[in-house]
Amino acid sequence: MIILDATKKDKLVWKHDNVEHPFSSSAVWNALRQRGEEVNWAHLVWFSSCIPKHAFIMWLIIREKLLTQDKILKWSPSRRLNMNVMCCSLCIAAFDSHSHLFFECKYSMQVWLRVRNDAFMQHIPPKWNDIMDWLNAREQV
Ligand SMILES: [Zn+2]
Repeated sequence: MIILDATKKDKLVWKHDNVEHPFSSSAVWNALRQRGEEVNWAHLVWFSSCIPKHAFIMWLIIREKLLTQDKILKWSPSRRLNMNVMCCSLCIAAFDSHSHLFFECKYSMQVWLRVRNDAFMQHIPPKWNDIMDWLNAREQV
């Protein structure tokens, strides 16, 4: 039975391990999530002025979790028969995959070469491991 007391002010609380805590989304999230070991690239994705949408996409890229056609194919193998569905939407010349999207596609390779030059990364080969190694070394200086 709940007894309402009009003389007291309402407050949000949540109960965790039979203890009441003042409610906040971050406190609940931190209490409920399972933390893994921090990866050496975490500072490249999440930092004080990061844009959350960009950080999320970067996290997907690093974990190779972008929803490219090769990932979708695992759910629906019959799609392989239709090149119109499976092909890269940038070049329309090859099957879409993580490696194709970033470094094998003729279109994205042109973008990468331009970005690489603008970011003074001309000596970095077009491979994720080499790029991540360069970024990690740069951030730790
Ligand atoms: Zn392509």
